[in-house]
Amino acid sequence: MKIYYDDVFLQHKPDGYHPENPNRLKIIRKAFEEKGLWKNVVKPKKAKVEDLLRVHDCNYVEFIRDACQKENFIDSDTYVCRESWDSALTAFGCAIHCVENAVNNRDLHLALVRPPGHHAGKKGVAFNAPSLGFCLFNNVAGAVVKAKEFFDRVVVIDFDVHHGNGTQEIFWDDLSVIHIDFHEFGIYPGSGALEETDGTKINVALPHYSNDDDYIYAWNEVVEPILADVKPKLVLVSAGFDAFKDDGLATMELTEKFYAFAGSRLRDFSVVAVLEGGYSIGLERGLPAFVEGYIEGYDVESVMPSAKVFEVVKKLREIHNLR
Ligand SMILES: [Zn+2]
Repeated sequence: MKIYYDDVFLQHKPDGYHPENPNRLKIIRKAFEEKGLWKNVVKPKKAKVEDLLRVHDCNYVEFIRDACQKENFIDSDTYVCRESWDSALTAFGCAIHCVENAVNNRDLHLALVRPPGHHAGKKGVAFNAPSLGFCLFNNVAGAVVKAKEFFDRVVVIDFDVHHGNGTQEIFWDDLSVIHIDFHEFGIYPGSGALEETDGTKINVALPHYSNDDDYIYAWNEVVEPILADVKPKLVLVSAGFDAFKDDGLATMELTEKFYAFAGSRLRDFSVVAVLEGGYSIGLERGLPAFVEGYIEGYDVESVMPSAKVFEVVKKLREIHNLR
């Protein structure tokens, strides 16, 4: 594993309490250090404005740059400060840098970035979301655009508890981008219904209180056939850990089991995992489990999904003609 991290990611900070704050990265670092995982740390490259323009509209980029000078909330959820511009450019560049290194180096490339990105659409708010959801630029979208230089099809798996509406919007109608998004349906940002698709955007819209067995069942039935079909060399992950039980912003009940399983299932691929959400225990326990699953492997016996999740998967199989 290689960790891509820079202290500049601590400079994006709120004036007062906010769940998306620099302490998140300190939680990760402490948990990694305790497990001997804080090594192979790479200094990420900073993006240029022209890199942002491959994903975002020029007016939006200028809006963010101006907003950072004014230090304020840009909507009800999302703040900026003067240093946010450098943090956001480095987060975006970091995701691209990971792809450059991952193409010829099968390994887990972990971008420990802030601010997060998957809610940011081309021009900002995506699919009628109420806000940017703590995101400024869509880091994983930068990674997708870079990966498209090397591959005909790109797979993005987003297991953050919230729907990656920005990523979906940016690549809507780009059928070469296969975006599989696991999320709790019915919470922020409101999009991501099962039926919402352009053909290659796959919304694993799960009910409240879904657990490890539900997620693992859905992964086996939805993700595995797609990976078997596409046979990617590289898989991009929008890695949020806020579906961990009691992480704070949602009702899902994941434990280390799902994250270790997910890491383990991606061992055959080069993986670029870009940090999205995760606010407390998910970062402390879910993220290390994902990394250890990738490094060491992790076996799961048969799982028993809830009746609701069984139905969700059945519908997805019909919608996307899986197997
Ligand atoms: Zn989230």
